[in-house]
Amino acid sequence: MYVMDIMLKKLTRWLRILGINAVYPPSEDDDIIIEYAMKKNGVLVTSDKEMSHKAENKGVRVIFIQSQCFDNQLIEFVEKAGVELPNEPIERYCPICNGKLIRLTDQQILTFREKIPPKVSKYNKIFWMCDSCTRIYWKGTHYDEIVSKIKEIKRTLKKEENKRV
Ligand SMILES: [Zn+2]
Repeated sequence: MYVMDIMLKKLTRWLRILGINAVYPPSEDDDIIIEYAMKKNGVLVTSDKEMSHKAENKGVRVIFIQSQCFDNQLIEFVEKAGVELPNEPIERYCPICNGKLIRLTDQQILTFREKIPPKVSKYNKIFWMCDSCTRIYWKGTHYDEIVSKIKEIKRTLKKEENKRV
């Protein structure tokens, strides 16, 4: 589990889209955040240098994100966390609240029909619902954008890997 700096909002949303468990700490207070990461045995992901030192001194694993730009933040995360990027989104965590996504059955899709725009249900047969905030997700127009962004990030990662060899 990754305990996220609230400054890293876009990165957090993206990690969830990629099927990675990324939670926000219960407070903005450094000590509480560090204690939370310890208790959850999580890795702290932060762009706050001071907090990252503090956490490391307490034995918490930290991924320090240096970049201000999202693409580079994701690249930094992948390199430092040593995770493999999937080729497409993994519908596991709600991008908004990190709740668990549950695939809806045909019966459930009928039940929640009023939450799905008619145009969407015409072209989509697969839906997920967040078990926490009850938002419904499907492979919408953003899906292709996300897939091509992943491809782009992977290409950059590969280039950097080749540079090091
Ligand atoms: Zn949710």
